[in-house]
Amino acid sequence: MRLQDLFGGASGGWAGYDEYIIVEDSGGRCVTPAAGAKISGYDPLQTPAEIVVEALNVGLICVKPARSQALAERAILGFCAKRGLLGFMCALPATPDFWEHDVVYLPKNPVVKTGSMPLKDYEKIFFPQAKEDMLAGRGKALARFLGGLVPEGEPLIGAGERDTYKTMLKFSDLPFAQRLGFKRGYAEPYEWLRGQFRDWASMFLSAAMYYEETDETMRELHRRAIQAFGGVAPHYRVVLGDGAPSLKWDFHSLLQTIQLLLSVMLSDAGRPLRICPECGRAFCAADPRAAFCSKDCKNRCNVRKSRQNKNGTP
Ligand SMILES: [Zn+2]
Repeated sequence: MRLQDLFGGASGGWAGYDEYIIVEDSGGRCVTPAAGAKISGYDPLQTPAEIVVEALNVGLICVKPARSQALAERAILGFCAKRGLLGFMCALPATPDFWEHDVVYLPKNPVVKTGSMPLKDYEKIFFPQAKEDMLAGRGKALARFLGGLVPEGEPLIGAGERDTYKTMLKFSDLPFAQRLGFKRGYAEPYEWLRGQFRDWASMFLSAAMYYEETDETMRELHRRAIQAFGGVAPHYRVVLGDGAPSLKWDFHSLLQTIQLLLSVMLSDAGRPLRICPECGRAFCAADPRAAFCSKDCKNRCNVRKSRQNKNGTP
């Protein structure tokens, strides 16, 4: 299936800061915007293949053994500084309107094992620094926010963040909880992020190795590995656009966006996802016959081969 068949003309909205850090609190390590980092918004569907390839390359670092922990941290923080956090808060619940209820329902997912959770406990995962009363007073804060006002007096998590509010207002058609995820105090557990990038890389590797594998037991393992993926389906609607009905996707998280884009790209024979044999990085081949990610990698490989031939070594 081709990306443009499903997403042609579609748009999405996401926002991220230009610097993230890992902080440690009672709940463990989490990734959150650095103090003073600048926020900006973008549309992930404008560069779908690039985002998937970036996520896969972070994942390929994360699947390596524990000794590359520092590399994995750098790769994850680098991805977030370019694309923002993945948006677990909205990706996990059954509905993006979970904010309006006291209990959050969490369909089967890889990170929270219980099927439901009180809202205040759920919020605490993503706003570890927030005070209890801020979370409890959400009704008032919500009303004020929807009124388009920058809160004054009592803070709704880090008040006085003009750029953050401007960005959130820019995405005023998105669900409240999704925009709340763009706030400076928002954080995501580091291990969840690492696990997600690792899962995407594993999915990609299984799909790639399955067709090269000749051993039937190994092929069965890859088959089972790939079956474990999927499930987090984004919502969609049919809209009667100009001339013809079209699909309107409601991705409520970057996580769901990447998950679906990756699934579509894995089944796109015209622009296959590959690993470059020279640099070991994932890339999306614009030409199905391209084996290398770039001219540089192709040239380097050719130079080495010709040197080896000259020296008589294989
Ligand atoms: Zn390469």
